[in-house]
Amino acid sequence: MVRPMRIGEIEKQNLESLRKVRAFAILAKGDTPKAIGKETFLVPSQSDREKRYTVTHNGEWRCNCPDFQKNHGMLLCKHIQSVQIFLKLREKEDILEIKTELETNEIRCDRCNSINVIKRGKRKTKAGIRQRYECKECGRRFTPEPIKHRKTNSKLIALTMDLYFKGLSTRKIADTIYQFYGIKVDHTTIMRWINTYMAKINGHVNKLEPNVGEIWHNDEQKININGEWFYSWNTLDSDSRFLISNAITKERSDFETKAVLKKAKRMAHGINPRAMITDGMPSYPSAVKDVFGEDIIHVYNVGIRDRINNNVLERYHGTYRERDKVMRALDSVETARQMNENLRTYYNFIRKHSALNGMTPAEMAGINLNLGRNRWMSLITQSL
Ligand SMILES: [Zn+2]
Ligand SMILES: [Zn+2]
Repeated sequence: MVRPMRIGEIEKQNLESLRKVRAFAILAKGDTPKAIGKETFLVPSQSDREKRYTVTHNGEWRCNCPDFQKNHGMLLCKHIQSVQIFLKLREKEDILEIKTELETNEIRCDRCNSINVIKRGKRKTKAGIRQRYECKECGRRFTPEPIKHRKTNSKLIALTMDLYFKGLSTRKIADTIYQFYGIKVDHTTIMRWINTYMAKINGHVNKLEPNVGEIWHNDEQKININGEWFYSWNTLDSDSRFLISNAITKERSDFETKAVLKKAKRMAHGINPRAMITDGMPSYPSAVKDVFGEDIIHVYNVGIRDRINNNVLERYHGTYRERDKVMRALDSVETARQMNENLRTYYNFIRKHSALNGMTPAEMAGINLNLGRNRWMSLITQSL
């Protein structure tokens, strides 16, 4: 039997403060704990990038890391302390955010976003008497939502996006929101939020011009949608890993291949690669030359899928698999296309890659949106 290690109170404090320093370092790196339940958090392991430790707080703090286990729960490990600090910081920041918002409170038209608005009478609502406004630009009359509400809403939506792209079902997301905020949201509302806000975000990010490199990869793989087989195509920039474009088609003849490459060219805002790497599919050679011109270097190889393509595309396919469960439940090719488009945005703009030194492909391609700590929240705000 292993006897628990005895530690004196002062020694315990010293050992814990050592771990507290490491906890701050975890947060400073941007490895924020992820709440997956009311009292359960995931903290990335600092030695193994693929690993996450589970910190729980049911009366007492526990962590499943070796350090915590080794000390028989008598020392608060760096993971637990990073959650504690994180929760404290979050509280403070909430207050700060609301305060700043109150101080710089601007009423904007809810149709054209102009600040050229004037007060125009009051309106009785369930929440009491509220000020009405009229927009001098477009003539819209509106009653703005109270600030606290607006802030909560964008927070909930940012949280929704975060959980959704991490693979939680809409029901689980509704459940989490209820546990954290005590707000009941139907799971169909969650899906509507995702669709509405992703459409705005996609529209915004697709206008940005990525500085893509000279070598692109193109591949296609079979996917099953509601029992039927389709082809899922990806065009990826080799240097930045920016996913230039994707498509879903029923066939993969000359016609579809050309259409897919044309779309990639359009999505890259007309930029031509100097080299295109594809597998040995027979429809590639003529389609590649047709779309990108005779001077294009086409690296065309039956065996290349294993040697090159998969390495570069692996990251993206990893992202894809996270949403695989949802993809399998897709009811139509239209929903699959929508989902594909959403995943592209998530992959390019939100997800940081360890292979890119913690940067996103968009940042690698010279698009810096300064998304800060809450990446979803900033992206939503910028897209509205
Ligand atoms: Zn731990
Ligand atoms: Zn207006």
